Amino acid sequence: MPEQLPPDIQAVLTQAKSFLATEVVPREAQRRALDDDAALHRAVREASKEAGFFYKTQPAAFGGRPASALELTALRELWAEANTPLTRSIFGPGPGLLHEAQGELKVSYLDPVMAGEKKGAFGFTEPDDAVRPTWATLNNEALTINGQKSYVTGGSTADFLTILVNVEDSEKTKLGTAMVVVDRTAPGVMIDRTFSSMEGGGHAAFRFENVSVPVWHMIGSLGEGMPRALANIQNVRLMVAAEATGICLWTLAYLAEHLDQPHRTGTPLSTKEGVRLRYADLRIETYAARSLLYRVARWVDSGENAVNEVISAKVFCSELAGKVVDTAVQLVGGSALVVGHPLEAMYRKVRSMRLIEGANDLLRLNLAKGYFEMGKGGL
Ligand SMILES: Cc1cc2nc3c(=O)[nH]c(=O)nc-3n(C[C@H](O)[C@H](O)[C@H](O)COP(=O)(O)OP(=O)(O)OC[C@H]3O[C@@H](n4cnc5c(N)ncnc54)[C@H](O)[C@@H]3O)c2cc1C
Repeated sequence: MPEQLPPDIQAVLTQAKSFLATEVVPREAQRRALDDDAALHRAVREASKEAGFFYKTQPAAFGGRPASALELTALRELWAEANTPLTRSIFGPGPGLLHEAQGELKVSYLDPVMAGEKKGAFGFTEPDDAVRPTWATLNNEALTINGQKSYVTGGSTADFLTILVNVEDSEKTKLGTAMVVVDRTAPGVMIDRTFSSMEGGGHAAFRFENVSVPVWHMIGSLGEGMPRALANIQNVRLMVAAEATGICLWTLAYLAEHLDQPHRTGTPLSTKEGVRLRYADLRIETYAARSLLYRVARWVDSGENAVNEVISAKVFCSELAGKVVDTAVQLVGGSALVVGHPLEAMYRKVRSMRLIEGANDLLRLNLAKGYFEMGKGGL
């Protein structure tokens, strides 16, 4: 641990390590030999319900036992350190952007999501050649949506999309932004193309042509679109940071084991001073990243504004994970670049972390704006 965690979280981590050893690691060995790993994901999910981890990301109103940001951060780091996609099935679905949904929106979308019966995807990013950002015209009790979303993860298999739109009235007067729920199969919702990214994610580009949805499909009030999208992104950014340090831990352990093996020079690479210097740097920086991460998780739990702190953790940890994996590839040598090598896969996986949930340079600009224009942000 980078710092002393409270005894209750330490106890959860001990339980989590034993859960990984008994329920996840043996299934990972089977997963690699299979084309279809859905049954293994289901088995992990059932074991997780039994062990209680499943409920830690779910609100009490849905039978959940929500954990603090600190506890979730420690667990997410541990899942990432295990380096298997099966850990994605440990936590149950969270409410995400729908967390405050009421009335029909709750019944038709939030409740089915929490029961695992419906799946949503998030549409925020727009293509560079869009005529104008996605907009919705408010007329009586309906919104008519037009526009495009170019990078929707899981979009082609989702039941619905939650998209950011600029709302205007029939006279084109701007009314503000809104997050709106749109059924994937609603008339006028079109998938322009599906594609995969280098870490294995599946995505879709969408076009909306006169898609009509009732106003109750709007999450919260008109004008709250951007703040709602960003409030949810903050949780996800902390998650990315925890996954990044988990990846650092996995990579450091993998690398140390490799460096201790016999080498053709006659002595293991771990005995060579130049290699030790590189390895020591990675450990020092990982220690610093984990200290930052845990401090920010505590900050989030304090209830204070933590936007700039979460940005710091996301930027620092994701960039460090890139450096750690890249250096590990260098120290292991050419075999690490052979397709199928664990570091080759990790190299592809880690690259997206500097772009997802806010490109790191844009987050830097947000942080500077928070400081210079709003006086926000701690050190
Ligand atoms: C694996 C993966 C999954 C994704 N999933 C989703 C999803 O589910 N939903 C979704 O909506 N999006 C998703 N995205 C898209 C992602 O959010 C965007 O790629 C990211 O926000 C960057 O936007 P962009 O690709 O349009 O690049 P751009 O905005 O064009 O930025 C490219 C680069 O230009 C520079 N830049 C841009 N603007 C400025 C500026 N104002 N000042 C200085 N520098 C600037 C930055 O260096 C930036 O990295 C996903 C992306 C990836 C890789």
